[in-house]
Amino acid sequence: MDDVPAYFSELGRLRMLGGDAALDFANTRHWRDGREIDFLTGYSALIDWAAVAGLLSNEERDRLKAAEAGMPLQAADVFSAAIRLRDTWKIYLGEATRTELPTASLDEPLEGLRRMVTTALGAPELAIAGLPSDPLAGADMALPLARAALAIGAFLALPHAGTLRMCEADPCGGVFLDTSRSQKRRWCAMDTCGNRVKAQRHRLRLKAEAVEPDRGQSKTERPS
Ligand SMILES: [Zn+2]
Repeated sequence: MDDVPAYFSELGRLRMLGGDAALDFANTRHWRDGREIDFLTGYSALIDWAAVAGLLSNEERDRLKAAEAGMPLQAADVFSAAIRLRDTWKIYLGEATRTELPTASLDEPLEGLRRMVTTALGAPELAIAGLPSDPLAGADMALPLARAALAIGAFLALPHAGTLRMCEADPCGGVFLDTSRSQKRRWCAMDTCGNRVKAQRHRLRLKAEAVEPDRGQSKTERPS
């Protein structure tokens, strides 16, 4: 898992473990060490993350970065729209990974999400063609939002290899596509969530074993 791209920020390392940019977008907010961390702290973080996730080219990232200083209000609007889209997407994914749910119960949240994706796509030529090649034409600050919407739309519309799953480490909330042949991938990554679950189980086992001898003792001490 060390070969996947990672976004580095002051909050730590965020690896692209979802197997799809739309899932990596959802994973920008998740639980780690008992607290929920949102890696998207502002427009600047959004475009840096989007470049690592493959949703912006490095050239697009650089041009948006340069444009942000001159258009802080537009940047802030795009950022809050991106957060709203991501949080709705996370709610949908939470429902979609609950296996006991009948598929029909997803219709309503899916409909709301589709409307949001369509709005966030805005002018479709922006998401698909990207920034105008003429630097004088300026940068459209909404590009990272449009690209995230494009990724979610593609995820919903296209068939994908693997099964959508939510990490079993609790709490984590990470989602990923299980593309393993055995279809038994349970965690974002073995070296983080997997190890945490194993260490937790180990601690519980030690605790249980520590209790056992006392019980044995009280049994032997009991007068017969
Ligand atoms: Zn996890």
